[in-house]
Amino acid sequence: MKPRVLVLYTGGTIGMQPSDRGYVPIRGFGRLMKAHLQTRASHQLPEYELIELDALIDSANLVPSDWGRIGGRIVEQWDAYDGFVILHGTDTMAYTASALSFMLRGIDKPVIVTGSQIPLTETRNDALDNLVTALMLAGRAEISEVCIYFDGRLLRGNRSTKLKSAGFDAFDSPNHPWLGQVGIHIDLKRHLLLKPGRREFLLPAFAADAVSVAQIYPGISARVIESHLEPDNVRGLILQTYGVGNVPDNNPSLLRVLGRAVEQGKVILNISQCIQGKIDQGVYATGASLNPIGVIPGADLTLEAAFTKLHTLLGEGLNASRVRQAMSVSICGECTC
Ligand code: ASP
Repeated sequence: MKPRVLVLYTGGTIGMQPSDRGYVPIRGFGRLMKAHLQTRASHQLPEYELIELDALIDSANLVPSDWGRIGGRIVEQWDAYDGFVILHGTDTMAYTASALSFMLRGIDKPVIVTGSQIPLTETRNDALDNLVTALMLAGRAEISEVCIYFDGRLLRGNRSTKLKSAGFDAFDSPNHPWLGQVGIHIDLKRHLLLKPGRREFLLPAFAADAVSVAQIYPGISARVIESHLEPDNVRGLILQTYGVGNVPDNNPSLLRVLGRAVEQGKVILNISQCIQGKIDQGVYATGASLNPIGVIPGADLTLEAAFTKLHTLLGEGLNASRVRQAMSVSICGECTC
């Protein structure tokens, strides 16, 4: 029997069309997709049905509650399908894929997130290949996790990041090997794929401003960091630090601001500005200055995984000390912790 796949169109370039304001998402992607796929050897494809979000979005407009809307649609339909394809804009695709991985834990079916750099309606596009291959991957029972498929690469969703604004090879997972490579053959790296675990669906109450992000730069003042931490609704801050996790330790007021926020119950996570590598908050005195304050080292998390993991844990209602604990362990392959 053919696998059954549900395709959820959320918006994004893949289904966009030009308007007088630039590209916008247009309803009716299902008809378009059918028209393109029926001319192909469609017997090789899984059976699929397509639904669209009520309000399609350019993913630049996405807010954390949209992760809940997308996750909710998948959870509702979980038992009826063998796999899922989420069509999404590329701008925040890695955030959504990461957020979904924390919402759909221990799953035993593929959830493949994809999109394109050029819309399906244009003559020369990357949309058709991404779509067809994502459909095929969503029919593969060996995959039991949330992935991004893009331009021949199958990536762990919560390890992925968008690295190129115009190249077809826009996504990569610099701190984790690809889970599969697609050329003439679909080559899955089975030993890297997550095994199904104890399934747990979590649809947290995502609060828009719960997590803030501050990048350290030469000359940054305590006041700048304070402005990130001041709003009451900010409960977590991601610090993007230099190299293995260094901050200017010759700025005591900056360290004081961070320490005060931790005492107030805010969670501060240290991740690197570098694309590749891992936090080691002790190699240099500058980075070691964060240890007594209670800043959590974020291992090799991407910004997207760090941001959505923190959002998820806070949205689940965990207190600060439980959030800190959970941030230090891998929940679904997101870090080498
Ligand atoms: N702005 C678009 C989006 O993220 C870009 C894309 O899909 O490539 O929805």
